[in-house]
Amino acid sequence: MNAHHVKYLLVGGGLASSSAAQAIRGIDPDGEVLLVGQEIVRPYHRPPLSKEYLRREKSRAELFTHGGDWFEHNRVALRTGRRAARLDIARSSVTLDNGEIIGYDQLLLATGMSPRPLEVPGADLPNLFYLRTIEDAHQLHKAVDKAHAEGRPHEAGARTGPRGRAAVIGAGVLGVELAASLTQLGMSVDLLAGHAWPWDKFAGENTGRVLAAFLEKRGVRVLADARPLRLEGDGRVQRVAMPDGKIIDCDFAVAAIGAVVHRELLRGTPIAAEKAILADAYCRTNIPNVYAAGDCAAVFDPLFGKHRLLDHWDNAAVTGALAGRNMAGVKEQYSAVNTFFSDVFELTLNGWGEARQVDRRLLRVPPGAANGNGSPPDLIEIGIAPDGRIAQVLALGHAGEDDLLRELVARRVNVNGREEKLKDPSTPLGELLA
Ligand SMILES: Cc1cc2nc3c(=O)[nH]c(=O)nc-3n(C[C@H](O)[C@H](O)[C@H](O)COP(=O)(O)OP(=O)(O)OC[C@H]3O[C@@H](n4cnc5c(N)ncnc54)[C@H](O)[C@@H]3O)c2cc1C
Repeated sequence: MNAHHVKYLLVGGGLASSSAAQAIRGIDPDGEVLLVGQEIVRPYHRPPLSKEYLRREKSRAELFTHGGDWFEHNRVALRTGRRAARLDIARSSVTLDNGEIIGYDQLLLATGMSPRPLEVPGADLPNLFYLRTIEDAHQLHKAVDKAHAEGRPHEAGARTGPRGRAAVIGAGVLGVELAASLTQLGMSVDLLAGHAWPWDKFAGENTGRVLAAFLEKRGVRVLADARPLRLEGDGRVQRVAMPDGKIIDCDFAVAAIGAVVHRELLRGTPIAAEKAILADAYCRTNIPNVYAAGDCAAVFDPLFGKHRLLDHWDNAAVTGALAGRNMAGVKEQYSAVNTFFSDVFELTLNGWGEARQVDRRLLRVPPGAANGNGSPPDLIEIGIAPDGRIAQVLALGHAGEDDLLRELVARRVNVNGREEKLKDPSTPLGELLA
């Protein structure tokens, strides 16, 4: 098939690619841009899929990163429903799954991730769900409706009253959000945390336990150290069997146990990758004119002196745009403080920094915060590296001090000898920055 050639080829149909397209157009009004995505829809935001969209508070139209005519007006060609199947570095070309060959001057790899599959017997039963795409969210909508109509009663043995039980497997950011949203949709939910507390990968025990207590108050049953042995049922998941013999009845299960990078396109290429594609602080891979951004990339972060795989919305927007600008000829380094957010019932979480460098954590609880009585938690968790410098800050609730909290991480403030002051909410945080 004849090769088509573009100046900028963006592979991946998510936020990172769409941010790159926008950034390129901000600099280069004319260079041909082609965005290839394997989903049939144009790029959209995924965070609402586990929140407002799942709860039917937001419409499908509100998910998209850009209005339908943005791509046309900005002359960004969209090839959706098409997978990039092969990358030929020597020829600077990508072959699509229909055999079409696209040559490029600059290539962006922004292929994102897909859910890590649950590997237990019964995981192939049809109503074990994952959540990554709009289509996945539709499947969950259907499962919720069916469970309400003909599922298990919330009260075992009851003939009347609400119906529908779900088991959520995994208590990271996504699992916790799913448990909250499904509960808000009127489901009775068991949240199976693989470790001693939810959010264990990035939050300390105290914060995790405060969160677990909050979830319980809101009706979610939180099971700690609960990794399923197998899923059971007659042609569909009806029970989750636990190693201790406990059986959790459900109408469906959702697994949220992490995600893996789409890296099939790297096969046979010399592009350096570990869990994710390695990119320098300019989002360049080890191959000239090939960039990587978003969830599929581990971009070098000068603040922490290492490559970091950050599968968060903000990172996809920031690195996508940065890659786009650099592809269009700017020479700009990553200089952001990574940030992520989550919403759980009426609780908001904001986080900055690097959990893997945290050696000890201290909590700062604002005066009057009513943690523990059912109101949403309000606290700041500060993660300190072995050398005394702040590595991570988590803010549960506590809107308003975001800039200060980000700055504590940005400056890697050394709190050696000042930890007691830091814990004391009467010490203004700004004092630490002085
Ligand atoms: C349900 C959910 C809720 C989330 N909530 C939050 C949140 O509250 N806060 C937060 O910070 N982050 C959140 N995130 C994470 C955030 O959405 C992601 O970090 C972001 O979507 C990553 O964007 P991306 O463009 O890098 O990758 P993706 O969004 O994964 O997009 C990549 C796209 O490329 C496609 N693709 C892959 N391979 C190919 C190929 N070979 N050819 C063509 N196309 C290909 C994929 O199918 C996909 O459509 C959430 C994610 C999910 C799934």
